[in-house]
Amino acid sequence: MIRLSCPDVGEQELQAIATVFERAYLGMSKEVKAFEEELTDFLQMPTVCVNNGTGALQLALQACGIGRGDEVIVPSLTYVASFQAISATGANAVACDVDAHTGLMDLEDVKKRLTPRTKALMYVHYASQIGNRQQVLDFAQEKGLRLIEDAAHSFGHADLINAPADILCWSFDGLKNVTAGEGGGVSTNNQEVLSHIRDGRLLGVEGDSQKRFNQQRSWAFDVKHQGWRFHMSDVMAAIGRVQLRRFQELHQKRRAIVEAYFKAFRSMPWIGLFEEIASPKVSPYPFPVRVPSDQREAFQDFLKERGVETGRLYYPNHWLTFYKTPYELPQTDAIYAQLTAIPLNPKMTLEDAGRVIEVVGEFFKKL
Ligand SMILES: *Cc1c(COP(=O)(O)O)cnc(C)c1O
Repeated sequence: MIRLSCPDVGEQELQAIATVFERAYLGMSKEVKAFEEELTDFLQMPTVCVNNGTGALQLALQACGIGRGDEVIVPSLTYVASFQAISATGANAVACDVDAHTGLMDLEDVKKRLTPRTKALMYVHYASQIGNRQQVLDFAQEKGLRLIEDAAHSFGHADLINAPADILCWSFDGLKNVTAGEGGGVSTNNQEVLSHIRDGRLLGVEGDSQKRFNQQRSWAFDVKHQGWRFHMSDVMAAIGRVQLRRFQELHQKRRAIVEAYFKAFRSMPWIGLFEEIASPKVSPYPFPVRVPSDQREAFQDFLKERGVETGRLYYPNHWLTFYKTPYELPQTDAIYAQLTAIPLNPKMTLEDAGRVIEVVGEFFKKL
């Protein structure tokens, strides 16, 4: 089976974990500190590490003072993590529609969802695209809203390095562009937000991050707000540091596959492509395509029978009991019915990509 997603981890990552084991300090300490410094350098923006991408989003919202009674507008087409991070703060996740071609937040629909309780927009970089983010940033600024970006898919996008932004949230889970096994990060130039998250990830204990970075503990301290056990461990950071050093290598592997896909699929009229992914600026994850909705199931079965794994990213959140909307989101419904993700991971060879292309071609020849 050619896998949809798969991390590329090996000897170097194992060696890095061994070093942490030898130090016998597994919690949050020197490795996390170093990972934060290296991420800050890479992204050209101050970055703090947390337990996972969901925790990053939740802490970012809470650092903005968002909670009960507030509303956060988020596209329905995203992993349920985006929604859960919002509702975990006590705020309401207000689902909005997406653009029918990009799957990104539809600003015209956002305008319909605004109320006096709206405090923030969560912009999701679906399939590594950042499309209309500048427009969304301008809109948020104009309306006095916070902009928290779910950048779980877009780590390494060239236009996000040193970019104007309010808050960017990353995921380092097992499938993402850079993995730490599990992990997340928040990047922002806002010192207040950074400081709130540094304490918030360690039960709100003031200044505990700095102590732990020096392998010390806080025995007497103050807590001024609700906190969580959302810190990153040195074991995870050790993996993440190696992956970050390998970024170019992993990026090139993903790009080579994506370029082969674009070259082949451009001549297959049945396949809808997400055009931004063709840009060399994009570090792609995952690789969804659009197929005619009445063919999707047959397409997935056909590929599966021939050893090619596929997926549906993502089941719309406004269809879920917990996040059901009293209004329709027709563009989300329409695009979801066509979405099929095909394999893209740094362990794949170009022969694997060739096999995927061949099987996809065979399917569409029958139509
Ligand atoms: C992976 C992902 C997250 C959550 O990240 P975790 O590290 O798995 O908690 C959030 N949003 C999107 C779009 C994701 O793909």
